[in-house]
Amino acid sequence: MSLDHLFDRNVAWVQAKTRDDPNFFSRMAGQQLPRLMWIGCSDSRVTANDVLGLDPGEVFVQRNIANVVHTSDMNLLAVMEYAIEILKIEHVIVCGHYGCGGIQRALGEDRSALVDHWLQPIVMLYRKHRPLFDAIVDVDARVNRMCELNIEMQVRRVASIPTVENAWNRGQKLELHGWIYGVDDGLLRDLGPTVGSAAERDALVSIDDRVRRPIEPTSGVRRHAMEAFGGMKPGGCCERHVRDVRYTR
Ligand code: ZN
Repeated sequence: MSLDHLFDRNVAWVQAKTRDDPNFFSRMAGQQLPRLMWIGCSDSRVTANDVLGLDPGEVFVQRNIANVVHTSDMNLLAVMEYAIEILKIEHVIVCGHYGCGGIQRALGEDRSALVDHWLQPIVMLYRKHRPLFDAIVDVDARVNRMCELNIEMQVRRVASIPTVENAWNRGQKLELHGWIYGVDDGLLRDLGPTVGSAAERDALVSIDDRVRRPIEPTSGVRRHAMEAFGGMKPGGCCERHVRDVRYTR
């Protein structure tokens, strides 16, 4: 298969970018000054810049299968060090998505691939609380519940990375967020709470308690978006599965 069409699309993109902003690329060539770092899933449907409506230069990105934070992952640690200590980014957003294939894998039985090592923290959380997860009868709802909990677990892991702790200790502004994206409606939800200090991190309830206490992920912005789009009434993905959790336990 020829990839020539990608070069054609690239030229068309450059033309579109410079039509209203002739200096766009010369400005980009100067220096990147993103204020955001995104830790997301490699899923091709969840691209940070598109989802956030941002241009190149506005978000520093790290992606992997199921947006897992391994505190021994040299790739992630190096990216975080650069983002925090050199770029001085102010927000780290761990963003997963509903219907994540990595989460589906972690909740299944097959452990024959390399990716199963990567997903092990999610597998262990599932095994520890298996009766609660299995009580969610609808399989999609069960996966989506774990998608949310995985994000909350990874936010806690980011908060324990020494680079982050050191930034807080020297008074640098750095807030951690856990968000989830709906591939079926394009909307982001804030799973909260925002963590901006070691004290706020230490005040978080444990991930095990979060498994036992489901809440509906939402935000004012999201409610706005749902109203704006009209047709999206409550009953979408997250409401449905939270209801499922409540009714089946
Ligand atoms: Zn995914």
